[in-house]
Amino acid sequence: MSSRSHLLNDRTAEHYRRSLTAGVERVAKKIAQADRPFTGVTPSQLAPAVSDVDLEEPLSDPAAALDELEKVYLRDAVYFHHPRYLAHLNCPVVIPAVLGEAVISAVNSSLDTWDQSAGGTLIERRLIKWTADRIGLGRASDGIFTSGGTQSNLQALLLARDEACRLVEKNSATPLRKPEILPRLRILTSECSHFSVEKAATLLGLGSEAVISVPCDQDRKMRTSALTAELERCEREDLVVMAVVATAGTTDFGSIDPLPEIADLCEQAGTWMHVDAAYGCGLLVSRRRHLLTGIERADSVTVDYHKSFFQPVSSSALLVRDEAALRHVTYHADYLNPARMAEKRIPNQVDKSIQTTRRFDALKLWMTLRIMGADGVGELFDEVVDRAADAWRLLSDDPRFEVVTKPQLSTLVFRYLPPSPAGQSLTDEVNLHAREALFASGEAVVASTVVDGRHYLKFTLLNPETSLSDIATVLDLIAEHSGRFLSERHGMPGRANSSAAASAGLDGHEPLRSRAS
Ligand SMILES: *Cc1c(COP(=O)(O)O)cnc(C)c1O
Repeated sequence: MSSRSHLLNDRTAEHYRRSLTAGVERVAKKIAQADRPFTGVTPSQLAPAVSDVDLEEPLSDPAAALDELEKVYLRDAVYFHHPRYLAHLNCPVVIPAVLGEAVISAVNSSLDTWDQSAGGTLIERRLIKWTADRIGLGRASDGIFTSGGTQSNLQALLLARDEACRLVEKNSATPLRKPEILPRLRILTSECSHFSVEKAATLLGLGSEAVISVPCDQDRKMRTSALTAELERCEREDLVVMAVVATAGTTDFGSIDPLPEIADLCEQAGTWMHVDAAYGCGLLVSRRRHLLTGIERADSVTVDYHKSFFQPVSSSALLVRDEAALRHVTYHADYLNPARMAEKRIPNQVDKSIQTTRRFDALKLWMTLRIMGADGVGELFDEVVDRAADAWRLLSDDPRFEVVTKPQLSTLVFRYLPPSPAGQSLTDEVNLHAREALFASGEAVVASTVVDGRHYLKFTLLNPETSLSDIATVLDLIAEHSGRFLSERHGMPGRANSSAAASAGLDGHEPLRSRAS
């Protein structure tokens, strides 16, 4: 086959159709057959399969490449659609969005300028407006799709930084330059906020002391009394609080900071309020919308559709209350988006983005809303939040485990408790071991985290197909791995065999339910 036959164009439509169909068939088969979320393969076991591929020797034939792909990727991938994948904020994806994804890469619009996207730009703008309206940001709101929450947070803080600098310069009696202001800038955020806030501060040229960590209460929400104290301290020390970052759904606990109180404090202090709703944005379409009350007062909001809107990676957005704030990322290039285009009101989205060439991720959300609707998405998210509440009850009634907080969203942070006093000194080790052993078995994938210096396990539920019985099964597996670790390596008793499923009176509980066919 000539190289040109691989180009997608008017003469290769049939080749395109056949290739894609063959790929879709493979993935469909794989997804239907996955009887566990992971094979448990180790990096050293899998590495040769990848390194042995001779990149100088193409296979030419798509079928042969798909056969090879089976070995280097599909066979051992981690499958988020499996109900026992309970680890990170990865969702099973909705089919309308996957359909959108196929269209995105075939048409390959780039959303930087109107002359590279046309309708794509209008669709993105419509969805930004739709999201801003759901938040309640008001008529002057605007925003932009981004690659993820990390980028959305970075851009929000960039805008906040430049607004703060502008205000300081304006209010200063003597002329000040930006490099003189930067060292005085501070960001206040809770100790449970996402690490991308710190990363953004570094990228924005702020010092390592720029991010001040505000303590949380027992429910892992920002303590507003502590926030007040920090705001006052910064004022006394002539520091400029450029932003308060509230989290609406912390990554570990799903806890939502007290948004109305934080909004009041930001208003009094004249400080930019950013809400990181990367995780909690699904509430915008759920029957629990009230949990986000106060978000409408934010200056900027991060949403990750690729978390609680069941969209494929990547799909995220930054929304701002005042469209004028986006001018801080507006630069003009003669070849791309000269200022005269803005004067002619030609909608060039690059004027609002920190990226240039940019994917048309908005199309996935568009297809989702047009096929299943916002309520459909909200229903799915509500289901996992309901499930987390049930699982919390299951865990709190189970003497084998200790659970940290009652979830507001869909995460559960807990740990296995060794039964004997001697075993208790091994609690951290046992829990670390249980996660690793479970991962190596591939039977389930769970996460681990550290709370108050101790190791815990974490479930992040984002799959409505995960039943309470799946959760009970995974708890039993964790208890088994833990018990075996204590008895085999340390000669200590594990817990007597009790089953979470049995004690919860769950019907139809079978260990390791296979989902094949
Ligand atoms: C996931 C997450 C982020 C980062 O988002 P990415 O899309 O992974 O870049 C930021 N903040 C919170 C609260 C998150 O949960």
